[in-house]
Amino acid sequence: MPQMMTLTRDTVLAWLAAYAEAVNQHAAEFNRLDSALGDGDFGASMQRGVQAIAAKVPAVADKDIGTIFKTIGMTLVSTMGGTSGPLMGTLFIQMAGVAQGKDALTLADVTDMFKAGVDGIMARGKAQVGDKTMLDAFGPAVDALIAAKDRPETLGQALGCAAEAAQAGRDHTATLVAKKGRGSYVGERGVGHIDPGAANAYLFIHTLAETVTR
Ligand code: ADP
Ligand code: MG
Repeated sequence: MPQMMTLTRDTVLAWLAAYAEAVNQHAAEFNRLDSALGDGDFGASMQRGVQAIAAKVPAVADKDIGTIFKTIGMTLVSTMGGTSGPLMGTLFIQMAGVAQGKDALTLADVTDMFKAGVDGIMARGKAQVGDKTMLDAFGPAVDALIAAKDRPETLGQALGCAAEAAQAGRDHTATLVAKKGRGSYVGERGVGHIDPGAANAYLFIHTLAETVTR
């Protein structure tokens, strides 16, 4: 099979479906992780989010990728709730800015898009890599894409590297003391537990890498 060189709208739609399925499969685990570090609702919130996405996407499925992401972002901000709703919504809204008017994205576009999205999460939540949040998986994923951009890598290879970086970042959150969100109230007692937002961020990138290379 020829290597996919751009991320097309059809692949984006397949990714969103694969991501929703992964969230549903991991919802109980996300709730359990959030019980150790927060209030135990993260899996339920993310399930509400992907259900809202599935309900809204069909109406814009023939539009440009930016319109699809903007619709998703605004939907997540208004339906998901919690801390993560506005943050995941911001991710999509900022990604939409880069994908605006495009029906296919190059590796450079994908890199710029995730960078804009993750910068948006940082601006909105005032957290940094190392604070034991979703940024500990998203940040290294973006760094991996930036590193891959200057090498002659295919989209699938670059996203594979990004997923590996996100996985390592997710696992590293177990060693950290949370500085943001409810996890910060748990403090040292949270050490040993993976951050649920980072676990979700890994799935987000991993399902994209899988969809592109499958
Ligand atoms: P809550 O129940 O406290 O409203 P959620 O359960 O919706 O929060 O989301 C929890 C996740 O949000 C955490 O696992 C963490 O990854 C992420 N998070 C919390 N605060 C921030 C922040 N300031 N910046 C980025 N991510 C954050
Ligand atoms: Mg919670």
